[in-house]
Amino acid sequence: MTPFDPEKVRRNAREATTEELLDRVTAFRDGMEPEALEVLERELHRRGIGEDQLEQARRDYQASAVRDPAGVARRCSFCKRPAIARGWGWHRLWKVMPLFPRILNYCAKHAPGE
Ligand SMILES: [Zn+2]
Repeated sequence: MTPFDPEKVRRNAREATTEELLDRVTAFRDGMEPEALEVLERELHRRGIGEDQLEQARRDYQASAVRDPAGVARRCSFCKRPAIARGWGWHRLWKVMPLFPRILNYCAKHAPGE
């Protein structure tokens, strides 16, 4: 682990989208240092996201989370967002040619159409 660098974490927090920040303080909070979490939550507060909204985001995520056997949040197979669904899909070469079926993780945006 690299030593905690508050300046770098603050800079990253400023550059992240609100959605990314919410993902980090909900789905991926287990893997983060408490100091880093504090920085991200402060940044969210600065953007007008209150404690109630954070709590709601945590509950929403808990209700839909996909975790591995160790309890760690899985990421979407197509982006960096937390997965909320899993299913068989085709692993594709250059996003076009289906190669072989495998289990894929999907975030809200990449989940196959309902
Ligand atoms: Zn995704």
